[in-house]
Amino acid sequence: MPRLVMKFGGTSVATVERIRNVARHVKREVEAGYDVAVVVSAMAGKTNELVGWVKDASALYDSKEYDVVVASGEQVTSGLLALALQEMGLKARSWQGWQIPIMTSEAHGSARIAAIDGTGIVKGFTDDRQVAVVSGFQGVHQPSGRITTLGRGGSDTSAVALAAAIQAERCDIYTDVDGVYTTDPRIVPKARRLDKVSYEEMLEMASLGAKVLQVRSVELAMMHRVPTYVRSSFDDPADPKLGTLICDEEDIMEQQIVTGIAYSRDEAQITLRDIADKPGIAASIFVPLAEANINVDMIIQVVSDNAATTDLTFTVPTADYERACAILNARRDEIRFQDLQGATDVVKVSAIGVGMRSHAGVAARAFKALADKGINIRAITTSEIKFSVLIESAYTELAVRTLHSLYGLDQA
Ligand code: ADP
Ligand code: ASP
Ligand code: MG
Repeated sequence: MPRLVMKFGGTSVATVERIRNVARHVKREVEAGYDVAVVVSAMAGKTNELVGWVKDASALYDSKEYDVVVASGEQVTSGLLALALQEMGLKARSWQGWQIPIMTSEAHGSARIAAIDGTGIVKGFTDDRQVAVVSGFQGVHQPSGRITTLGRGGSDTSAVALAAAIQAERCDIYTDVDGVYTTDPRIVPKARRLDKVSYEEMLEMASLGAKVLQVRSVELAMMHRVPTYVRSSFDDPADPKLGTLICDEEDIMEQQIVTGIAYSRDEAQITLRDIADKPGIAASIFVPLAEANINVDMIIQVVSDNAATTDLTFTVPTADYERACAILNARRDEIRFQDLQGATDVVKVSAIGVGMRSHAGVAARAFKALADKGINIRAITTSEIKFSVLIESAYTELAVRTLHSLYGLDQA
């Protein structure tokens, strides 16, 4: 029998009634002849609630216990879906991450999957076509025997990794939108659904803020060449639509120059004024940040005219902003900056498209269009298939909509 992995996100399993609807989707595929492993998220809002409880219990919480608490949301939905499937006359059982096991690194809170042993699940398939209902987001660090979680949105990654491990024909990610759009359809009503999007572009879109898929899931899909669909769990189970296929660039006939626009509010800006313009200064700033595991993203340094001092601007994730400022202030004597200016009301807006490789001036058009709307650009980065601008967050929607129209992505 061919194998299939189906993943359902939080909104899709938010109530027992919706879980019954999920069971109907699963039943359809079983009846179509697939051996099915289903990966489920926690009910919508549950993980946020659990994280809140952890922070309430302990401000500087132990990340091992954080994982114990936040992994529990998926345990509930996997059991409930197994029950709903049994009620429909299907054979089904739940699997927690540690039972399979899904083996991960020890990085509690954002662990990486190292290996998955699919033997038990496959045995269930061959013995009596048992549907495997797997708790997403969870794994186990085997040397310590402790539960781990894969980072927010990690159930997508559980699903793609499982699909690769059991050699599934494809991985279907069911969510609350019917596919991947040219930008977040919740902020741009004119966004268009894409029939296909390349692994590379999806990877950039996810990294740059489109939260429809967790970045790591796209990496795994690309690495293991897992055909992955994003589709809607709210479709009628009897009449489903295929959604968006994430696939090789070569399989896409019609390529736009720009495929999508993404935005990320998870950026904070730090500017150091009047630092010495001499070798070693950048290292004195960025080495301590790296040692503290702070990811620096956009960096701009101005060439000074007097060759004595210069200004340096860069961005860090919002969650690391306070820590980064503290680290730099503690090294003020060594770095010798005059002033540290920070801003958290910033957003990074990006345009992504493999067509940028072969077309010049794509970003330049954006700078002009944003200027025409009176939007000031604070920082810019570009790479082969994307460019990003850092702007004031009040202009997020205007900037996303402006770029979306500029590159001809609006729905007719
Ligand atoms: P789930 O709970 O099913 O994992 P998520 O909330 O993680 O769902 O992801 C789906 C959401 O991603 C959509 O509701 C949508 O608002 C958002 N999103 C952001 N960018 C895009 C995009 N380019 N295409 C589709 N959805 C997007
Ligand atoms: N429940 C987890 C979260 O909210 C994992 C997921 O839904 O993918 O982040
Ligand atoms: Mg998600």
